[in-house]
Amino acid sequence: MSEIMKAVVITEVNKVEVKEVVKPGIERDKVLMKVHACALCTFEQRMFTGDSHMPLPIIGGHELVGEIAEVGDRVNEKEFPVGKKIAARLIHSCGKCYFCRRGEENLCTEINSQGTKYETTDGSGRILSIGGLSQYVLIDPSQIYDIDQDLADTQACFAEPLACVLNSIERGRIELGDDVVVIGGGIMGMLHVMAAKLSGARVIMSEPDEVRRKIAEELGCDITFSPMEKDPVKFVQSLTDGRGAEVVFNTTPIAAVAAQAIQMVAPMGRVVMYSSQHPDKPIEVSPNWLHNTEAVITGAVSPSVRSFNRSVNLLTKKLIDPSKLMSGEFGMDEAQAAFEAASRPDTFRCIIKF
Ligand SMILES: [Zn+2]
Ligand SMILES: [Zn+2]
Repeated sequence: MSEIMKAVVITEVNKVEVKEVVKPGIERDKVLMKVHACALCTFEQRMFTGDSHMPLPIIGGHELVGEIAEVGDRVNEKEFPVGKKIAARLIHSCGKCYFCRRGEENLCTEINSQGTKYETTDGSGRILSIGGLSQYVLIDPSQIYDIDQDLADTQACFAEPLACVLNSIERGRIELGDDVVVIGGGIMGMLHVMAAKLSGARVIMSEPDEVRRKIAEELGCDITFSPMEKDPVKFVQSLTDGRGAEVVFNTTPIAAVAAQAIQMVAPMGRVVMYSSQHPDKPIEVSPNWLHNTEAVITGAVSPSVRSFNRSVNLLTKKLIDPSKLMSGEFGMDEAQAAFEAASRPDTFRCIIKF
């Protein structure tokens, strides 16, 4: 007789339901994680609002925190004791492809092959789950990361988004005293601000919304400005003796902004396209300008094993406190409201508690 658990399912566009599904049974090499809370990332928001290619119904959620509920008989119970609070990097890395073998597991060629199908109890068939928006999730021990046992769930579920940002920070190669521009004051922009400050930079944020600019300043941002009031490229040049910033992080999905990001970087500087682009409109870059400046234009996608490890360290040691970015806690029964709140532009992270 199989056990039953509850899962939060995006059943159709703009609709979320709690469904009963068959709870995954333990496997010999696996750990069953009891989910405490899961945050709703842009990825989940896009599936909810119909701006994603993912077929519905679907169970998402990859920013989760929980505890070990059960371990398989081939898993070391001392290392993975029942009841221990853990974070999980749910992104699938096969460990055997070209990129995984080079330590670039965030580019794993099998990254999209993850997912389990859960049988529903109402006869509506099997539902694909690619995440942790359910009471339990079966994971591999290699996906588990230690976090401070006393860290609140509302902070611990930042392990994944912060890890994404730390991968980006690594690409930016910030040096002490550098000027760093963060374009966009959404949650990812704010996490960039905190991580760049910790890396010893002077941080400048371009963000039209006054409330967000104020929050960025409270998080340590040195200079904020509105791109509606000041020409962003000229303003950054005016702060840097005309050179531009050593590092520019673009956390917005807008093509015109991507072009500006490149224009405001200094010779030898780095531009990191952090956000995916919607729509993905090509921009012009002068090869001669690249030749003459040796500037680097790059991107950052998904957390690597290293950046996830760094993220849990920063949260555990309280070197980064993301609590200002928590916009709302919802129970499982309020999942619809949680998705609606998360999709509003004036919120940062909303979490569902299980
Ligand atoms: Zn995420
Ligand atoms: Zn791989």
